[in-house]
Amino acid sequence: MPTTLLAVNNLKKHYPIKKSNTFFTYESLRAVDGITFELYEGETLGIVGESGCGKSTTRRLLLNVEPPTEGTVLYRGKNVVTMNRTDLRRYRRDVQMIYQDPYSSLDPKWRVGNLIAEPLAIHRVGTRAERRKRALELMNLVGLREHQISKFVHEFSGGQRQRIGIARALALNPGIIVADEPVSALDVSIQAQVINLLLDLKERLQLTYVFISHDLSVIRYISDRVIVMYLGKIVEVARNEDFFREPLHPYSKALLKAVPIPDPGVTLELQEIEGEVPSPIDPPRGCAFHPRCPFAMDICRQREPEVVSTDSGRKVKCHLYGEGGDVR
Ligand code: ADP
Ligand code: MG
Repeated sequence: MPTTLLAVNNLKKHYPIKKSNTFFTYESLRAVDGITFELYEGETLGIVGESGCGKSTTRRLLLNVEPPTEGTVLYRGKNVVTMNRTDLRRYRRDVQMIYQDPYSSLDPKWRVGNLIAEPLAIHRVGTRAERRKRALELMNLVGLREHQISKFVHEFSGGQRQRIGIARALALNPGIIVADEPVSALDVSIQAQVINLLLDLKERLQLTYVFISHDLSVIRYISDRVIVMYLGKIVEVARNEDFFREPLHPYSKALLKAVPIPDPGVTLELQEIEGEVPSPIDPPRGCAFHPRCPFAMDICRQREPEVVSTDSGRKVKCHLYGEGGDVR
């Protein structure tokens, strides 16, 4: 059995939203609404779903930058919200983040060497000279040239900036990288280079990835397992091969209507699905996907489906596969 690095259990994040035209009444927006999954050591776990389904909120909860409304994230068995300071420090070093747009997260007044070494400075690792040496090492690792160490961010292209972001994320020798739409802002031709760099680094440094994207072709190329989210919930979990051979959930089927090409250079946006994504403030009763589902039955409008685990270790949250449905 692989080691479980992160165990997420019934995790929820509800944001209070002030009702319009009223003074003190709030309603809650269910950004993440009871998700459960594990992250295994050495895997790349892809999280996919349309914009607004709760991917980035999940990322913030994983990284413990905001507290959940309910539920837990366990890191090597310890709750990240209540763990002691020593464990928290270890967690903050071991779990690093790659952003969609490194430009907005990198200070334009800093030279690249200092940007890459900043996490080391924050965690008081090494002397100034040692940090500079480590910055050079990291620049080599991500395919930047040493002479670029004293340049500023605006002197780099989009792909190079993402390399800077990756170098920074690697500075503290993390085990887990959470990447939230890391290639979505890049030209398609550059996306492949950055994804291949991430795959290469994963091998060389034995990393574990949580890779978040709305882009199924990117998810297909990089993920070992796939999680599909819809309106704050997980609707399907499967191994990459199984998922792309035969997605089970009607939502997944709709996403995959056109089979994506397994080449990260070819971007395939999520397919248009009939109807609008409902509001997470007042989600549909029963199964939240039922208003858009071509297979919706009466029960789908009334009762939220349980998560069904199939023999082959897949999970799907859909009445078609529940009691009386065709579970395989
Ligand atoms: P994704 O990353 O999948 O596009 P997000 O996690 O960013 O989705 O957002 C999920 C839902 O939560 C959206 O409806 C979004 O508007 C809402 N949301 C996210 N952050 C906040 C916040 N701080 N306050 C209120 N609503 C939020
Ligand atoms: Mg997002």
